[in-house]
Amino acid sequence: MKAVTFQDVGVIAVSDVAEPELLEDSDVIVRVTRCAICGSDLHLYHGDIPMMPGDTCGHEFTGVIEDTGSSVKLKRGDRVVGTFHTACGGCNACLRGEFHLCSSGAVFGYGPIYGSLNGTQAEYARVPKADVNLRLIPAQLEDEQALFAGDILTTAYGAVKNAGVMIGETVAVIGCGPVGIMAIQSAFARGAARVLAIDLLEERLNLAASLGAIAVNGSTSDPVGRVMQLTDGEGVDAVIEAVGGPRTIILAFELVRPGGRIAAVGVSSETTFEYPLMQSLTKDVTFRIGLANIHRDIDETLALISSGKIDPTIVISHRLSLSDAVEGYDLFDKRQASKVILIP
Ligand code: NAD
Ligand code: ZN
Repeated sequence: MKAVTFQDVGVIAVSDVAEPELLEDSDVIVRVTRCAICGSDLHLYHGDIPMMPGDTCGHEFTGVIEDTGSSVKLKRGDRVVGTFHTACGGCNACLRGEFHLCSSGAVFGYGPIYGSLNGTQAEYARVPKADVNLRLIPAQLEDEQALFAGDILTTAYGAVKNAGVMIGETVAVIGCGPVGIMAIQSAFARGAARVLAIDLLEERLNLAASLGAIAVNGSTSDPVGRVMQLTDGEGVDAVIEAVGGPRTIILAFELVRPGGRIAAVGVSSETTFEYPLMQSLTKDVTFRIGLANIHRDIDETLALISSGKIDPTIVISHRLSLSDAVEGYDLFDKRQASKVILIP
């Protein structure tokens, strides 16, 4: 079968690889109908996340179940969306509802640090613990709409939840890539009155503004000054950081009001940063950073898409054949594509 494989830093290929097989009785094999290139895939493309040459990339996917292990309740022919990270459903972390901290969890196509699980930018994929890690796609949704619930929409929505956004609040979203755009949609869906959207690229800010956010261009203006101006010098109630790295986390501490909350989801190769201790202490800031807990929130995001309250497909700029994945990565990396969907 065809699959997108990592070859070297900055080099991916569409290769012929062996079709996956059932390994456990809780596995299924999914025929992938849609997959996508995520901002997180760029980290391995750039060599910031180690990947073994020849391994299949990708973790955002929908598909149809082709084959099931003997203990699986889902059925052959079911249309499903996958969660980008897997969980077992039975360890202490899973029983606490902290599926992203599962003791045997992994991320599809994200290398040895994240469990060496096969990727999903391929014609077929093996999904372990399928009843835990797949959701049926509601009948009224296209695969392309549901795809986003398995990763970036639910990541963004979970961050808005983790930041404790309440009705009537003002929220800043740093980064208007696909995750940031979905954080804007999620903040409004959870009752935010105002969303201040910060990015460096005009076209990304235009999309944010089309959703009702107030655009703040960090390359042509001082984002702190502008946000203070818009909040009577107080700062925002909550900040969602959707870029990754110390620079924008430190910016979040500047933007948040005393007593406010920060939820960061951006991934970075930096392992540490200088924590703004005094600022955090005097402002009494709540700071949270972590991987998304997709299983906790995916049913809510599927419901928001089904009810029309959130349309995640607005971020799609390109639909390409899986065979054209090399071009897709290149366009996405050069920021000439806002979201690339690959069709096997
Ligand atoms: P992306 O790279 O497409 O978007 C990032 C955006 O940030 C771009 O629009 C860029 O112009 C903007 N930006 C860069 N520097 C900035 C700055 N100094 N100030 C303001 N804006 C700036 O990525 P994405 O797909 O939207 O994902 C965002 C981040 O979320 C990535 O790091 C990704 O790995 C991460 N992510 C995390 C999880 C998780 O579980 N925590 C899940 C999915 C994605
Ligand atoms: Zn992702």
